[in-house]
Amino acid sequence: MNLPSLAEPAPPPLQCNKVRNVARIAAFAMLAAAAVVLLGWWLQIPALTRLMTGATSMKATSAIAFLAGGLALLGCARRPRGGLACFLPNLLMLLLGTASLLEYTTGVDLFIDHLFADPESIAQGNPPGRMSQMTAVGFILMGLQGLLVSRQRMPRLAHLLAGLLLSLGTLSLTMAGYGYRMGITQVLPVAVPTAVLLLLGALGWLVLQKPMGIMRVAYADSPGTLLLRWAAIPALLMPPLLAIAIRAAEQLLGWTFAEVVAAIGYLSGVGASAMVIGMAWLLHGLDQQRQQSARFQDAAYTDALTRLVNRRGFDEAMERMLQGHRESDHGFTLLMLDLDHFKRFNDDFGHLAGDRALQITGQVLRGALRPQDIAARFGGEEFAVILPGTDVIGAQRTANRLLQAFHAQEWPHRPVTASIGIANSHPGDSAAALIARADTALYAAKSSGRDRACENQVTTISSVL
Ligand code: GH3
Ligand code: MG
Ligand code: MG
Repeated sequence: MNLPSLAEPAPPPLQCNKVRNVARIAAFAMLAAAAVVLLGWWLQIPALTRLMTGATSMKATSAIAFLAGGLALLGCARRPRGGLACFLPNLLMLLLGTASLLEYTTGVDLFIDHLFADPESIAQGNPPGRMSQMTAVGFILMGLQGLLVSRQRMPRLAHLLAGLLLSLGTLSLTMAGYGYRMGITQVLPVAVPTAVLLLLGALGWLVLQKPMGIMRVAYADSPGTLLLRWAAIPALLMPPLLAIAIRAAEQLLGWTFAEVVAAIGYLSGVGASAMVIGMAWLLHGLDQQRQQSARFQDAAYTDALTRLVNRRGFDEAMERMLQGHRESDHGFTLLMLDLDHFKRFNDDFGHLAGDRALQITGQVLRGALRPQDIAARFGGEEFAVILPGTDVIGAQRTANRLLQAFHAQEWPHRPVTASIGIANSHPGDSAAALIARADTALYAAKSSGRDRACENQVTTISSVL
């Protein structure tokens, strides 16, 4: 039988402010870091340009790009379409990244790196104060992402850029974690604070975007949302954290290269297994929820005694069928079925015996109907059957089959028979009008002797037996 589906619950409203705070935090981090670094370059205090001990210094050009990026992100977090105040800083960031990369690829000096002398770069034979290639790529990605998000254009591309930027940030942190000992030195390393800010920037722009793709999952209320909220950031940070742990073990415990590789392999496997276990646990929870909601739905639309569709299910199914008839001319036929002299049955054998007979009626109907037919307990000892795509002739045949099935059934105490009224749907019918026609036919069947079916033009079909 076709059970009507419960309406999908409306998705919860986006937690706009909470989400925008991620962008604000990212913006303030960029602005604060850029201000400290620029001050460090101005006052020639290396500790300030590094932002953290042991890190490579953040170049002045990078700091200027972050200043611009922070302003753009803040502007867009305040007003979704940030206008020029958002566009210009984003463009500046994009241009700084592009120009730096051009300098590397063409060898031309555009004099954008000469703001402050950088002994570290000069010692490495690099132009003074030039950001690394990877940092330049990071700014290009973030500038483009910011431009697209603030103008609400090409959301898919913006998501792709966010993904690339996140992976660039993670790679940079991982390289920093390993201390470049694995030989990944073809491109200049990204300073750790720069990598962190690139990651924050990617997340900041990501949360300002209209939720789509995987971000819809992040804002929903499902096991997937839980997984994403709790596991996405740890998963992102797993490679650098692994790198730092391995590097610490190497330095503190004096591990050999082979031991380091073995540890990486083992810990990666542990991480992947933890993910699989987490996923399996969530999927299991999801499946249990699904089963429970199916049980609730079943209970809400099923008559407890007969296991047929209950009155609520019947009413909804009728509305759907009538709408289908209005919209696409899919006619159907309704049977109203009433047990004969059932009061007497109850009086003679008791209500429990009567209940058992109603249960058996449910089985008889289920057994004699097609899967697409909808048999419902209309109320008391009255039943309604919707026969989709069936005309009156087909319905008469079905009604006869039902009468036969009642006769063939072995009933406790004494045989039970039924009378059936048949009415087919008309375009523009209301449920009440169709039920009234089927009822009229049912009364005709009753008054002409019971144990028979009548259609609503009062044409009697005598029982086969
Ligand atoms: P008719 O052939 O004219 O339909 O006669 P009838 O006796 O079936 O009609 P009536 O409407 O007078 O009686 C219906 C009976 O159905 C009365 C009531 O006791 C019985 N009935 C309704 N619901 C239930 C139920 O859930 N369990 C039981 N055991 N009996 C029920
Ligand atoms: Mg009756
Ligand atoms: Mg009745």
